[in-house]
Amino acid sequence: MTETQPRSDNHSPKFLVDGMLGSLATKLRILGFDTKYDKDSNDHDLILKAPEEERVLVTSDKELYLHAKQQHVKAILVKGTSDEERLLELFQEAGVESLDLSNMSRCSACNFLLVETGTKDDLGRPIFKCINCGKSYWRGSHWRKLDALFSSVNRSLASNR
Ligand SMILES: [Zn+2]
Repeated sequence: MTETQPRSDNHSPKFLVDGMLGSLATKLRILGFDTKYDKDSNDHDLILKAPEEERVLVTSDKELYLHAKQQHVKAILVKGTSDEERLLELFQEAGVESLDLSNMSRCSACNFLLVETGTKDDLGRPIFKCINCGKSYWRGSHWRKLDALFSSVNRSLASNR
């Protein structure tokens, strides 16, 4: 555990998301999950990398999933067609019981941690910055859509518990 890790990371699964699921990877980062998105590695390399980095391999490719399982690599097969379905399947499989929507903790572009800058936007919303690439984040109008999606996933997780 390092000092820059948010508390929620101590028990959160880390993910390695294959090249077909970019939109899912982005949303996992926004939710604060340590997520590597890999669109360059072939199946063989993905199966090697996931356990090396203690990540759960996430894929919609059944063949890749079965290969991973054969080699006792932790993998989750997502079959849904929408991000909402995919997030729900993933969290149920990974044992994530609820999502913490109070924090913005990871850069959707590069997966590094975000820190509060201490400044606010015109509407008084705090601005966060990525410690790696410097990209700024705040909960502007785009957040409303994400919040609705994540809240809906959260409700489904709660009702299926
Ligand atoms: Zn970044």
